[in-house]
Formats: sequence, C-alpha cells, structure tokens
Amino acid sequence: MSGGRVTLIGLGPGGAHWLTPAAQAALDDATDLIGYGPYLDRVPDREGRLKHGSDNRVELQRARHALALAAAGHRVAVVSGGDPGVFAMAAAVFEALEAGEPGWLDLPILVEPGITAMLAAAARAGAPLGGDFCAISLSDNLKPWELVTARLAAVLAADFVICLYNPISKARPWQLGEALALAARHRAPETPVLFARAIGRPDEALQVVPLAQARAEMADMATLVMIGASTTRLIARPGREPIVYTPRSVTKSPCATSQGRT
Ligand code: SAH
Repeated sequence: MSGGRVTLIGLGPGGAHWLTPAAQAALDDATDLIGYGPYLDRVPDREGRLKHGSDNRVELQRARHALALAAAGHRVAVVSGGDPGVFAMAAAVFEALEAGEPGWLDLPILVEPGITAMLAAAARAGAPLGGDFCAISLSDNLKPWELVTARLAAVLAADFVICLYNPISKARPWQLGEALALAARHRAPETPVLFARAIGRPDEALQVVPLAQARAEMADMATLVMIGASTTRLIARPGREPIVYTPRSVTKSPCATSQGRT
C-alpha cells in the first residue's frame, strides 16, 4: 500500500487556540493517531480515525508502531504536548527509524512545530526569556542524575535563564529540591522563580516567588519551572501581577556575579 506517512504533531501546551493550523490540518488528514493517552484525549474523536493510546514510558515502542502503520499505508499523526521536538516524540521516532526496517527510510516523515511549554509560560509572565536561556529536563529516566546536576551547575555559572521541564513526579520526588538548592548557591535569594502550571488549560496557575522561597512542593508534573538569570527582574504594578522580564542587554560578566556564592 502506498500513501503512508508519519506526521509529528505538537498540540501546544493547552487548548485548541494554541494549536497551529498546520498541525490541525495534519490531524484532520490522519487515519491513525498515536500518543500518550492524556494527549490523545485532547483530540476530538472522529469517525474513521483510530486512536492508539499508550502509556507515557513506552515511547520507542509507540514510535515503531507509528512507522510500521505508515509502512502499511496509514496516514499516522504522532501526538505530543507542546512541541513534538522538545523532550517529546519526534526524537523517539527518529531513534526508531535509525534502528528500524530499511524500508521505513522511504516514508515521508514531517514534523509540525508547536508552542512549547516554556514559551507559553514566558508569555504569561512577561518576557523572562529576553536574554540567553536554556532548557533542561529534570527527568533522570533517560540520563544519569549526575549529568543533570553537572549541566545545571554549568548553566548557573554561565548565568542563563533556566527552564526546567519534567521538574517532579511521584517516581522523582527529590530532584527539584536539589536543583533549587544548587541554584541558591549561584543566584541571589531575590532571583525570580516562576512556577507555571498547566498553562493554557482551565486549571492554569502562575506563581512567581523569590528563589529563597521557592519550594519543590510548588510544582507538579504539569509545571514548568523557570529560574531567572542575575538580570531577570520584576516590575511591580499596583493591583496587578508583577511583570517578569530579562533585559536583552547585559553589561557585566556573569563570572563576577554568579560564582563563589556560598
Ligand atoms: N513537548 C512538550 C514537553 C514535554 S515534557 C513541550 O514542548 O512543551 C513534559 C513537561 O512539559 C511537563 O512536566 C512540564 O514541565 C511541561 N509542560 C507541558 N505542558 C505544560 C503546560 N501547559 N504548562 C506548564 N508546563 C507544561
């Protein structure tokens, strides 16, 4: 059978208003949807379109399933939250492609970008990503925790704004506390920390606290945690939430401000 394809789709962080028209078109065109159950639940059922839901931890298996279905002529949309290339299914599908059937290399594979959580969170808060920033997944399911802390220490010393994806879960309860303690050794106590939860969904919540008051309990699995750089600051407004922003210009070297704090 011909005509099979795989499209990697990002649903954005929340509601349909943050789904791109290109991703919507790929969803409309698909005969099969593959993804983690809660993400598939966000896509309305439609006759003639099959949903193959699966558990969060079986990404490679899900990726192989998508490629095998496409090779059999199905138009498959693999669904991720946010952007499919950010800590999500696109990399899993390419990993499965690399190690899989040679015939899969002939399949059209398209990646449709989506709004990733850190961009949605930043937009709600103001402009915290106005200067240099980085993103780190705190999950140590796929990499050793020592690597996570080494990377955190390096970017804290280099004075990036740091976006933490997958900050905490039942299976990983202590990692975020350790990351915040590490941050406190490099950054001033008043550094703004954002806890952006379920941004774009009905249960959205945004909390901005100084680093000295940031606690792991303020986050859950649906939270993006953002730790400011030394230049990230607040604009207080009477009767309104403060704006968080990072100016685009930096005049002093981070090494003078962020290292050696004890
Ligand atoms: N591909 C996704 C990220 C998957 S990792 C993206 O681009 O956004 C899952 C993590 O993303 C969660 O643990 C949380 O840290 C973050 N996240 C996803 N959706 C979110 C939302 N609506 N609000 C805040 N954080 C979110």
